Amino acid sequence: MRFVLLTHHLEHYSNRRLIEVARARGHEVLPVDASRCTLLLTGERPEVHVEGEPLHDINAVIARVGASSSAYGIAALRHFEMQDIVCVSSSLAIARSRDKLRALQILSRRGVQMPFTAVADHPSEVDRILQAVGHPPYIIKVVEGSQGLGVVKADSESAARSVIEALQGLKAKILVQEFIAEAEGADLRCFVIKDKVVAAMRRQGAPDDFRSNLHRGGSATSCTLTKAEREMAIKAAKAMGLSVAGVDLLRSHRGPLVMEVNSSPGLEGIERATGLDIATKVIEHVEQSALVKHRGERSSKH
Ligand code: ADP
Ligand code: MG
Repeated sequence: MRFVLLTHHLEHYSNRRLIEVARARGHEVLPVDASRCTLLLTGERPEVHVEGEPLHDINAVIARVGASSSAYGIAALRHFEMQDIVCVSSSLAIARSRDKLRALQILSRRGVQMPFTAVADHPSEVDRILQAVGHPPYIIKVVEGSQGLGVVKADSESAARSVIEALQGLKAKILVQEFIAEAEGADLRCFVIKDKVVAAMRRQGAPDDFRSNLHRGGSATSCTLTKAEREMAIKAAKAMGLSVAGVDLLRSHRGPLVMEVNSSPGLEGIERATGLDIATKVIEHVEQSALVKHRGERSSKH
């Protein structure tokens, strides 16, 4: 088959692994830097060009234009979707998961448990949302942050107020969340493909950091999930419309809580921690999705 790997970071471990595995399985892979795509629109058919040449006969697009990517990556992905090409994952699901508030709204509607969260836009409402969330410490998050950047723990109400005011002054969209102290600076990354958790790791933040992100110096070990955790991860990925997702859970006194759902989960940390070949599982899923589409097209012609 012929796949496009659409990303902004071709050199990243995850992308190198996906390309390597897909090629070893006999596929042609075109690594495409999303920011270098030219999108052509006519009354005929949308076309994506790279270096002046149209991309043709693509069986599937592997889209890794996650939280740190520009909106242009999502527009480029949408252009492939407009040609009815199978895209793992969809532009809509990626856009939803990039925005922490939008993601939590969707999860909340589906009854997925999460840390208590409140949002307000007007400075006059700050005290009210702090009261609604409860007592300090508070977690304050920039809605489009990633890799632990833009997540702050405020240990007192006055610290929370000043952080919120500063961020609102910078026009950042934020949310305020209860701090899950009993998670002890650790979270669970569940790697979901379709309706299965194919791998899970426990990430522990550096000794002086409440954030468990590997980019912030956290460390990871393989872990076994409870049934409730597995089910919650699968439910969260499904609610977001993602067939490949990294669902992050916190272990709390009231059971697992979903913190976020990543649409382009990294492979490096999870493959190292678990020793599993996740890249192959992702490519198998892409093959399956392309085949299902192909069969559907053939049967509709007969
Ligand atoms: P990012 O998208 O930047 O990774 P997250 O929402 O995942 O943002 O938060 C980063 C880290 O901060 C998490 O991995 C977790 O360790 C910690 N964290 C986030 N929210 C909470 C919370 N409500 N209670 C306790 N720790 C949290
Ligand atoms: Mg995170």
